[in-house]
Amino acid sequence: MTAKTTYKNPGDGAIEYASQFVESLSIEEAMPVIKSLMKGELNDTSDKRIKRCSYCNYYWRDDSLRNTKKTCCDDCKKGIKTLQRREQREREALLNPKPKKKTKRETNYVYWLEYPYWINEYEMLKQSWKYESPQSSTKVNQIFAAKERAERIGGKQKSKRVVPYNGDEAEQPKTFVNFVKSNKKPGEVTVSHIEKEQIDTYFLNRYSERHLKLERRRAVLSGDKKV
Ligand SMILES: [Zn+2]
Repeated sequence: MTAKTTYKNPGDGAIEYASQFVESLSIEEAMPVIKSLMKGELNDTSDKRIKRCSYCNYYWRDDSLRNTKKTCCDDCKKGIKTLQRREQREREALLNPKPKKKTKRETNYVYWLEYPYWINEYEMLKQSWKYESPQSSTKVNQIFAAKERAERIGGKQKSKRVVPYNGDEAEQPKTFVNFVKSNKKPGEVTVSHIEKEQIDTYFLNRYSERHLKLERRRAVLSGDKKV
């Protein structure tokens, strides 16, 4: 008997044996009885016919003529047979593992020779399609020309483009604007002018002296950076 007993669903024989101990008891009363029954504390030690079922693992009483049964019922017997068969299969699988299925390439391509060759032309074409798809001769020429160009200039090169970050650069990207056709005439243009003093008072009213000082300093510093 192993140190830890693993139980399965109790078989008919085990239930029959246990029921004689708990027949007239309520569920609450029966629980401790079943507990000690599972530990074997209630067994009649003189009765050699009481044993554990080798499948469900509960105690039961063997009524067979020669007291040679190992399981408490037919279901447990089936269960143990299934377990044995599974173990047998696992052992066999371990001893003769299934051979790995060969790929089409492995079966049709004699790759282990110095000059490998294909046994089956159809398979050869199917395989080569993966790496060299057929192209028209013009397309092939274009590809070769592109390769040659790349070799001459030392590899593929990215086209250079300077991206302006504040709009002050000499080089500006070309921008095309499509205007919507419309009959509307532009409105009158009004020119407004604010005196320097007016701007100063506006900022003084809006921001604190300290804030304006900081902003002035920041403007000077960023001007320095540009040069
Ligand atoms: Zn059983």
